[in-house]
Amino acid sequence: MSPTIRSVVTIIPSIRAREGAGFEIRRPFPTAQIDHFDPFLLLDEMGPKHMKPGEARGAPDHPHRGFETVTYLLAGSFEHRDSQGNHGSLIAGDVQWMTAGSGVIHSEMPSAEMMAGGGLMHGFQLWVNLPARDKMMKPRYQDVPGENIPLGSSSDNKVQVRVIAGESLGQRAVIDTRTPITYLHVRIAPGGVLEQPLPVEQNAFAYVFSGAGLFSGSLVGNDGDMVVFETKGDTVRVENPEGSAGVLEFLLLAGQPLNEPVARSGPFVMNTRKEVFQAYADYQSGQFGKIG
Ligand code: FE
Repeated sequence: MSPTIRSVVTIIPSIRAREGAGFEIRRPFPTAQIDHFDPFLLLDEMGPKHMKPGEARGAPDHPHRGFETVTYLLAGSFEHRDSQGNHGSLIAGDVQWMTAGSGVIHSEMPSAEMMAGGGLMHGFQLWVNLPARDKMMKPRYQDVPGENIPLGSSSDNKVQVRVIAGESLGQRAVIDTRTPITYLHVRIAPGGVLEQPLPVEQNAFAYVFSGAGLFSGSLVGNDGDMVVFETKGDTVRVENPEGSAGVLEFLLLAGQPLNEPVARSGPFVMNTRKEVFQAYADYQSGQFGKIG
């Protein structure tokens, strides 16, 4: 049976904002227009930016409860510390999938070398909501070095996909997710086409960060555009036309919607306001522990 293509419902430009201690980001959501995209709560692109010595900024100690933070670095380096006693560094290509669950405090800072010497910084942070049954689960970390992220290629080699979650071009991700999620970093050279199957029940969007292309027939050409696909159909088709100026690069994200109430306030995302107040109370009374 031939695939049914999911057409584009809307294209949402991202906004520019500042996060943490003042690093600049581009953000398709949440904004005044769109609170979340079930099951995703936030997407931030940090950079790409050449940091001068002393200019790099991060997010010092802060808590999370009720969802997952996924950091994917394309350039630069980050240091991570948390209240569970974890300490690690992230370099280009690495992914950290942190399930905050019942609560962690962590810091996400550029490495000492990056702070002192500057350099190119580029990366993404995605927030994935947890279903009500998992919001108070024990925190979990999946730190995956870049070389362990499966890389799929098309037979003509014009399409390359880093499979962070889900499956693409015969490769299956090593990261385990609580609910079905697809997270792909796709590069398409001029003349290349990706037909990516996505289960009908999953909400799906692409976030374009380099180049332009045809997304299920709609032309998208602005960095920072969020391309929302309709839920009908089982495949998205993305083409970088022959003769185009350069490589098209985007994240493709899809996930099973939770269809549960979302009560969010800053670093806490629960189902009710009462649970959010409880999160603040637990955090303030020291129940999240501290960074050792
Ligand atoms: Fe954080």
